[in-house]
Amino acid sequence: MFKFWYKEFPQYPSDHPDYWRVRLIIHALLIVSCYFFILTMTNLVAFSNYTFAMLDGAGLLISLGIYVCFRKTEKVDWAAWAVTILITSIVLLFVMSAGGYRHSLFWATIIPPVAFFLLGKKWGSWVSFFAFSVCIFLGYRQYLSPQTGTYGFAALLNVIEVSAAHILLFRFYEHTRSSAYRQLAFRNADILRMAETDKLTGLYNREKLDYVLAQLIQIKSDTNGLSVMILDIDHFKRINDQYGHLEGDRVLTSLAIELQQSMRDEDIVARWGGEEFVVVCVNASLTTAMALAQRLRANIANKTISGKHLTISVGVAQRQLDDNAESLLDRADTALYKAKRDGRNRVLAAL
Ligand code: GH3
Ligand code: MG
Ligand code: MG
Repeated sequence: MFKFWYKEFPQYPSDHPDYWRVRLIIHALLIVSCYFFILTMTNLVAFSNYTFAMLDGAGLLISLGIYVCFRKTEKVDWAAWAVTILITSIVLLFVMSAGGYRHSLFWATIIPPVAFFLLGKKWGSWVSFFAFSVCIFLGYRQYLSPQTGTYGFAALLNVIEVSAAHILLFRFYEHTRSSAYRQLAFRNADILRMAETDKLTGLYNREKLDYVLAQLIQIKSDTNGLSVMILDIDHFKRINDQYGHLEGDRVLTSLAIELQQSMRDEDIVARWGGEEFVVVCVNASLTTAMALAQRLRANIANKTISGKHLTISVGVAQRQLDDNAESLLDRADTALYKAKRDGRNRVLAAL
């Protein structure tokens, strides 16, 4: 039964811009309907006041009518206006019937949060301006013919009810705000991850590598030096030709995993291009980087990667004083080119 009234709208999922507006519309209509139902029954049964019961019954029918129409048409803008007009009318009729006395004016303060949330900045301002103008008019009439103020139970109830309504509304606002910020943070993290990773292997891509390397070169914090290795799969074209491009992709992915597992935790592994990878060896002299590269080359040559026998050629270079990221990579690339020319499956150091 409750599920029927509290139905979710699948076309407005939690990341839809209208998700929270829809929720406020549904909540507001259900609360107003319950409110009118209770008032109708109280006037009928407890007070036998049939005129008030009829008016409250009409309010109940209107709010239920909007609710049913919204569920059928799912037009958010239309429902947003209907709910704002309904709540503004109820509040203003109540305030005017009380002549602005008994702290009833307090009720007008719930109009801006509802109107701004449902109608946006422009119409939220106009509706609030209209509602507060009515309140100011009532206040002005009180000023012209002042009455001795009495603070009865009705005034106390008004203060309590409006305070409760405000807490609920602002909880709703805060929930909306924090959920929007959370979604934004997740999405930013996703975008950042996509911008800096290679889709196939999940390693850093070339842009990220260039950025990280440029930073490391600038910092110059490593006492033992900074070295890079560029490695290239030997005769990779043959793998594609023999097993197909998809199998070639699988080999690249498996090699990427192998690279990450073989390198030290602090080393940075990136895919530089097609079947070329770069490893930035932090805090490593040329000798250390050469030893790491030799170990890696032998390791790959002695096992199968995705069921294939592969070899790699590697060019290694250590940062010199006047190096930037480009010149450092350039020297490693020249060494790699020489390793290829010298017969492949070997590691060469840059001059
Ligand atoms: P060498 O030993 O001289 O490096 O020979 P090679 O065949 O590895 O080098 P070459 O540059 O001639 O060919 C590289 C091949 O890598 C050609 C290209 O189709 C393939 N390749 C580049 N990117 C990808 C990719 O993302 N997936 C697959 N499957 N193949 C790729
Ligand atoms: Mg190659
Ligand atoms: Mg290549």
